[in-house]
Amino acid sequence: MKRIYVIKEKCNGCMNCVVACQKAHADSEFYASIRDSEPTRIHLQVVERSPVPLVCRHCEEPACVKACMTGAMQKDEKTGIVSNEFNPQKCIGCWMCVMACPFGVISLKQDGDRKIAVKCDICVKRGSPACVDSCPKGAIVYMEDEEFAEYKRQLSLENIASDQGGDEQ
Ligand code: SF4
Ligand code: SF4
Repeated sequence: MKRIYVIKEKCNGCMNCVVACQKAHADSEFYASIRDSEPTRIHLQVVERSPVPLVCRHCEEPACVKACMTGAMQKDEKTGIVSNEFNPQKCIGCWMCVMACPFGVISLKQDGDRKIAVKCDICVKRGSPACVDSCPKGAIVYMEDEEFAEYKRQLSLENIASDQGGDEQ
């Protein structure tokens, strides 16, 4: 399946992806209440002073889906997208998915008098992920798994070539 991949070396921490994500989901039908604090679904963490965007992997065997007691969190068989927005009425805000996800990419939201879990849905209604479209550095891409592996190989070769060029000077 196509997934959102991050090339952390390219990220400059500008937060465009975070803002674009919040904006893209601000009018989600998922919510019952006024959207005054839309949580981001992509998380910009800082590791050793460098920004690292973190986003859902839409895992083949998602721990969040296994942990969800109500069946709200599901993996769509056709698209591979993992989301609880296909049947939001089932989300009871128990945070089991938050505890189960090894990447910490599920956010929490108070929606009126209920609590819900909020996560990346690859902007399925928008057509393409807003974080990818908004990144000025090309640090987030949306690619097939093998396509991304090839892309990373090319980046690695370019780095090696530029290192060797530097050595010769
Ligand atoms: S938009 Fe791109 S460069 Fe900016 S913080 Fe997000 S990943 Fe990094
Ligand atoms: S939320 Fe976490 S466990 Fe669930 S699919 Fe995404 S990365 Fe995997």
